[in-house]
Amino acid sequence: MLKFISFSSGSSGNCYFLFDGERGLLIDAGVSLRRVRKALLENGLGFDAVRCVLLTHDHMDHIRHLGTFCKKLSLPVFATSVLHEAICNNEYTEGWVGACRRNLSDDGPTEVLPGVLARYFIVPHDASQTVGYSIEWGGKHFVLMTDVGAMTEEAIEYAQVADTLVIESNYDLPMLLKGRYTEELKRRIRGGNGHLSNDECADTIGRVWHKGLKNIFLCHLSENNNDPLKAYESAADALQGIILEDGSTAKDETFLRALPRGRVSPFYEI
Ligand SMILES: [Zn+2]
Ligand SMILES: [Zn+2]
Repeated sequence: MLKFISFSSGSSGNCYFLFDGERGLLIDAGVSLRRVRKALLENGLGFDAVRCVLLTHDHMDHIRHLGTFCKKLSLPVFATSVLHEAICNNEYTEGWVGACRRNLSDDGPTEVLPGVLARYFIVPHDASQTVGYSIEWGGKHFVLMTDVGAMTEEAIEYAQVADTLVIESNYDLPMLLKGRYTEELKRRIRGGNGHLSNDECADTIGRVWHKGLKNIFLCHLSENNNDPLKAYESAADALQGIILEDGSTAKDETFLRALPRGRVSPFYEI
């Protein structure tokens, strides 16, 4: 059994939790300890369920509360050596991780918990370094990619063997273009080191879908340049377009959900 919950997703804060009924890991630390505790409690769990943290990158919406997590919980914090160095050498975040630091292996998987293997892959984004994760846990393959400026072949390959995929669906292009952001910010978001649009996300889903892909979660939806329904429909269209031999569609075979922005999601069994 594997369960997944989002404590928050989007530019106000990102933090996800993957749990096997006894042990769990966090991906990113962009929400407060208090919120994590409350959400865990509501699901009958305590902090003892959280055994380690994995980081995707060093933007504040992903690491804002990392210092408190390290100080109060002393959990191992896994990140690439490049990302750990950046966090250590940034005047705002230096001293945050300390003895909690664990470098991910650059060639091959890292055992982040006994029997739980995590591999990272680099994705283009304007942080010091940004990675997605492929996590093998009890025979399941969980893949998460957030803050992805452009899709890469490596990310596609990991997603093609996932049974659960968490993928960014950040903005609806017409909403971004019509919106009130400055031209410079619009260029940054649309650029190859910015974020993934609904169309790019749908295109990726069309490319990676396979019979074993059971769950797709859309993450990091923009508050200003997206609408959860638009994000959902664009991904659903991609799945409807894949017709299977028996006449059903990939949509019939796959649970698709847009994760709520800035709020706790249900605790999904995956
Ligand atoms: Zn972000
Ligand atoms: Zn980012």
